[in-house]
Formats: sequence, C-alpha cells, structure tokens
Amino acid sequence: INIKEKGEKMSKPKISIGALGGTICMSAGGKKGGVKPSFSADDLIAAVPVLKDMATIYAQTILALPSGSLKLSDIISVYKWAKEQIKNGAKGVVITQGTDTLEESSFFLNLIWDEEAPLVMTGAMRNADDISADGAGNIYASVITALDDKSRNRGVLVVLNDTIHSAKWVHKSNTFSLQTFISVNAGVQGMVVEGQARYITCAVKRKIYPLPNKPLPKIAIVQSYLDNDGSIIKLIGESKFEGMVIDGFGAGHVSFDMMDEIEKLKIPVIVSSKTGSGMCATKTYGYKGSEIDLQNNKCIMSGWLPAVKARLLLIILLANKISLKEIKNEFENF
Ligand code: ASP
Repeated sequence: INIKEKGEKMSKPKISIGALGGTICMSAGGKKGGVKPSFSADDLIAAVPVLKDMATIYAQTILALPSGSLKLSDIISVYKWAKEQIKNGAKGVVITQGTDTLEESSFFLNLIWDEEAPLVMTGAMRNADDISADGAGNIYASVITALDDKSRNRGVLVVLNDTIHSAKWVHKSNTFSLQTFISVNAGVQGMVVEGQARYITCAVKRKIYPLPNKPLPKIAIVQSYLDNDGSIIKLIGESKFEGMVIDGFGAGHVSFDMMDEIEKLKIPVIVSSKTGSGMCATKTYGYKGSEIDLQNNKCIMSGWLPAVKARLLLIILLANKISLKEIKNEFENF
C-alpha cells in the first residue's frame, strides 16, 4: 500500500458549517420583489461538490436572517454551537452569514473564542441569482482555511474573495464590490491560492475575555457631524443606556455643544474616529471638545477601533465588571 492509498484510507477531517442567512443564501425564486433568504446550509454545501473529497462536512441551518437583524444573543448561540462542534471532533468551524454585520459578529466572537481551532466566517456579495455568484467559492476557500493547521491559534478569521482577514481588523468597505473586505490599518493575514491557505503575517495579538453570564449592557453610538448640538447625547444620557461611543471627528473630537452634554454624562464614554482608518489622538489637541479635553472629562479614546468595534469591546468589558481605569488600559493596549 503506497502513502497515497494509505492517506485515502485514513478518515477525513471533520468541518462543521453553520448558516445564519445573508446574501449567500438569498434568491428571488423567480418572483418579483427582490432576493430573500431561501437556501439551507445543506443547499449551500451542495453547490460545492468538492467539499466531500476534502472533509466530512456537517452542515446546519442555525438561522436564516438578513445580517442586520442578527442579535448579540444569536452570536453567543453561535459561539456555543461552534464550541460544541469542536468538542465533537470538528477540526474547524465555518459560519456563513450576511456581510452587512460580518465585521461586528466576527469581532465579537474573536473577543471570546477560546479554542485553538479556527472559526472561519464568510458570506457573499452576489446572491444566487446573480451572474458569477461568489458564495460557493467563498465556502470553498473558507473550508480550505478551516482545514489548514496554520489557521490554528489565529482566533476568528474572515475569508471572502480568497483573502483571509483577522476579525480584529476586518471591515466591509464597499456596497457591492467582491473585494469589499479589507483589513484597515493592518492588511490581510493571507490568501487562498491554488487550493491552499497562504499566510503572509504571523497571528494577530488578541486577548480572550470570559463570556459574561448576565445580560449584556446597552451601549449607544452617537455620530459627530457639522452643527451637532448635543441633544442626542442628552437624550441618551437620560435613558437606559449604560455606556456611549461617540464616533468623533478626525483624530477623535467633538463640537463645543456635544462637549457640554458629555460633561454631564454619568456613564462610560468611548471616543472613536469616523475617518475610517488611523489611531485616535491622545495628547495633541487642547481645545474644547479635543481628545485632551475629552479625556480630562473621563472619556476614553478608542485607539485603533472604529465605533462599532469599540462598542462591542465596551460591552464585553462592562459585562465582565471591569473598572473604568482598567477599561482605559484595555483600549490603550488592544
Ligand atoms: N444585506 C445582506 C446581509 O447582510 C448583505 C450580504 O449578505 O452581503 O444579510
């Protein structure tokens, strides 16, 4: 018996694929009125026949939602489901979902994913009715990535259009482009080339937080814009929100009027930059509403994190009862 035959006789690795919905499972089914979730996890893998030669695939439809309607409680269920798959012998787990919230769900999972095995997330930019739909190719590339030993200890990975990203940095940057996912400030982790996961960088540093066993705090995001009079900040401060992220101007700044309302808040406030890339300032500008003024009023600068990711980190930190002083450290060292 030669090595090849021996290999063929060996049992195939197991990969579990969980489907949550999104464009990847959408079709109009020949009707008018736009595409909607239509396909199950089994349908998705049936579109990639080669998978059965690569691994023993277990596929489960967990949800069938547009990703804007996923909840954090759904993502926690996915975490538990994925851990169960690893416990039952899966070498890696692939999750398919809509791309609209993929950078958030993957980032959140990356904060709590406490397994060496890869959790790979993917989706599609073109639905099943489109010419040259990308869903099947993205599933194929994700399974290749999930099977690769080099994907271990890299946390949660996002694979689309043959690019492999760390959930820490990944961002949806375009409404329709197949290359919408980019890793802002960091660059890709690697690419899937000729059927193999090829990594360019070493694993991204990450800290794993305990999954809180209590309801998650409600955190609001407030946008900065020309002539923002601070009234939204006032309203949120008077409501049941337990924290706020201000998506600030430039390097992390707000208007005089916003600052007047921020000064009165009694909840933790994180300030990010709405520019889309770069790090927030901490010690450059000294005017009212600048980062120095904000920090003198107990606000915490988000560092590299955009508002949506800063919100998720704040949720995990507050749910784990981390003090404000330590929250500042966590953002500084993230
Ligand atoms: N609107 C879709 C969703 O997020 C977009 C996609 O899947 O690409 O569910």
